Amino acid sequence: MVELTYDRDARMLYAYFAEIEEGEDATQVECDGCFLLDAEQLVGLQWETAGVLLPEALRYAVGHDGVTYDQTTGMLRLLFRPGGSATEVPFPFPAIFDLDRNGRALGVEVVAEPEFELGRRLEHAEAFIVEVFGDDDDEADAEAAAAGPGTAQSVDDREAEAGPQARSAQVQADGEPAAEVENEQPPAAPSTVMSAEVVRAGFVALLGRPNVGKSTLLNAYLGQKVSIVSPKPQTTRLPVRGILNRDDAQVVFVDTPGLHTPRSGLGEFMVQAARRAIPDSDVLCFVVDASEAPGALDERIAESIKAARKPTILVLNKVDVARQADVFLQQYRELGPWDQEVAVSAKTTDGLPTLLDEIVQRLPEGPRLFPTDEVTDLTEREQVAELVREKVLLNTSEEVPHGVAVEIEEWAERGERLYIRATVNVERDSHKGILIGEGGKMLKKIGAAARYEIERLLGRQVFLDVWIKVRKDWRRDPSSLRWLGYDVKKLK
Ligand code: GDP
Ligand code: MG
Repeated sequence: MVELTYDRDARMLYAYFAEIEEGEDATQVECDGCFLLDAEQLVGLQWETAGVLLPEALRYAVGHDGVTYDQTTGMLRLLFRPGGSATEVPFPFPAIFDLDRNGRALGVEVVAEPEFELGRRLEHAEAFIVEVFGDDDDEADAEAAAAGPGTAQSVDDREAEAGPQARSAQVQADGEPAAEVENEQPPAAPSTVMSAEVVRAGFVALLGRPNVGKSTLLNAYLGQKVSIVSPKPQTTRLPVRGILNRDDAQVVFVDTPGLHTPRSGLGEFMVQAARRAIPDSDVLCFVVDASEAPGALDERIAESIKAARKPTILVLNKVDVARQADVFLQQYRELGPWDQEVAVSAKTTDGLPTLLDEIVQRLPEGPRLFPTDEVTDLTEREQVAELVREKVLLNTSEEVPHGVAVEIEEWAERGERLYIRATVNVERDSHKGILIGEGGKMLKKIGAAARYEIERLLGRQVFLDVWIKVRKDWRRDPSSLRWLGYDVKKLK
């Protein structure tokens, strides 16, 4: 019989086709499929493996009771209860099969969205479940389900909602004179023209728990702010690519959201986004904070990095403030083995040239992957929205930051200037009050700081109009999440 484990926090079922020894799972492949329901209860799981897995890859899977496989259609099915009809509910994220070195599927992971309330549908699956992890999250699931997609405010009542006292920050009037803004373009290394010339080129994932300095590291390499940074964990939400060109190499850094245990739809999106970066990368950098001992989260991240069996470098960051670095180094080393370890400070840039050399040595040879004048794959609008969000994070504390999402609603030429209207979505009325501040002071401050950086980025004068809007509990609301661009299906 196939064995299942159920992780309540991650709302994940894992089906084991074979016993997995640590480190035995060599690669992962994604595969679409669906939950099979009868009277709301899960009666099975189904995967469309055609074009993804060959029949011999499923050798361990097909030996089990309850598993059927149709070679002609590639449909793999696991039934907890034989016979009967079932409704198909597509998986919200592709299932992930773990394969061993011979390409055989050892097991598969399936994740549900909160409103699906997976925990309540496991009656028939129970006999297959050998282990349950995580907190009892039913309450949170129920809450999320109750919030439902219908609670998102429509775009049309947004203006009304902002109201007169929401006051837009007329930043241009109060900010520093825009004429003084310089157009800085400091690529960190000499660029060359794109050609078929063979260099070392590839993707490098920056992985680690929130707040260890992944985004700071990326920005330090690129000599400009590509990924926003703040002292708050989980500042980075989308995987941001930053491209560094050298005469002999092109390094495409992928700054990922920190890997953490997801507690909301947004958290789920962020963890998925970070995990997806692993199979697409040529080199993995496990970034840790050398001023702190490793925690449980570091251990878990280390496991998933090692499972990918890719060249991995342990990056001990923040050595500028690390007093017991030697003790902690040993502890991080023991989470390995790692192919290399490098101590750096993203803040002072100590150690960065050494780390870059170690990365480049491990990249495959080939042509450059992006034109040499491209520094990031984020659009200007995305970068502007991120800069506004960064200023909100830097100016607020506690509960506000996590619930902030910025949308750019207008981007128009107005004479000499570019007019940009940004809406800052918050989760509660009280957060809106905090962001506006007494007499609109806070909003002005955030707007002025954001405008300054936006003008540096775009190299021109900008009129930035910032509005605050309450979108209740958007992080738990799938339709709001999609609306704001946090959609797993659209991940690059
Ligand atoms: P991320 O969540 O891993 O992307 O972390 P960030 O890059 O957003 O940085 C988190 C915090 O750590 C920020 O306040 C940074 O200024 C700080 N930080 C990052 N690198 C260093 C470093 O090398 N030394 C010190 N002292 N602080 C750092
Ligand atoms: Mg970050």
